[in-house]
Amino acid sequence: MSQFVVGVTGGIGSGKTTVTNLFAQKGIEVVDADVIARQVVAPGSDGLSQIVDKFGGLIVTAKGELDRPKLRDIIFKDSRLKAWLNALLHPLIREQMVQQSQAAGSVYCLLSVPLLVENNLQSLVNSVLVVDVDEQHQIERTMLRDDTDAAQVRAIMQAQVSREERLAAADHIIDNNGDSTQLIEKVDELHQIYLALAESFR
Ligand code: ADP
Repeated sequence: MSQFVVGVTGGIGSGKTTVTNLFAQKGIEVVDADVIARQVVAPGSDGLSQIVDKFGGLIVTAKGELDRPKLRDIIFKDSRLKAWLNALLHPLIREQMVQQSQAAGSVYCLLSVPLLVENNLQSLVNSVLVVDVDEQHQIERTMLRDDTDAAQVRAIMQAQVSREERLAAADHIIDNNGDSTQLIEKVDELHQIYLALAESFR
């Protein structure tokens, strides 16, 4: 059971997934808030049945899955419905983040939360790791990964906290402006730090 939970965050395309994969290769369990956000509305979930009660059966696709684009459209136009949905989903997601990180079997675990600072979730973790890149790398790498354009990446960045605000919440920072060798070295170094912190935390 992991007592020591490291929250990993960073803007879009900063390298969170790349970083958490490197920790996972060391046997460190990774709990992903994006995965949880899908689990809490998966077919058969209490979350999905409450959404169907509220929005009607047409909010579900023929496959029985939540029609996310449709739901996004509805709440974009109606702030009260958006607030209702957030009030339903945020506690469910939060509860799962706590449960799954506590259940992790590694000496410490990572909780990857892209919007950790935006949603003020620092209290769920023992230490905050920010993956940081400059704007140019962030845009270039996201464009390459998602086959999108700079304007779209900038629009997503606008909806996230500023780099400065995120960095202010960090206990540790990974500077991911360099190459993969530098990244691996930094992860090795942090892994040793987290092992020691987890040990002293027992
Ligand atoms: P996030 O999960 O934060 O959105 P990713 O880990 O998916 O970011 O990284 C964004 C893209 O940048 C991916 O295609 C990834 O392979 C690439 N990438 C990450 N780190 C580096 C690096 N140090 N050098 C070059 N490309 C990188």
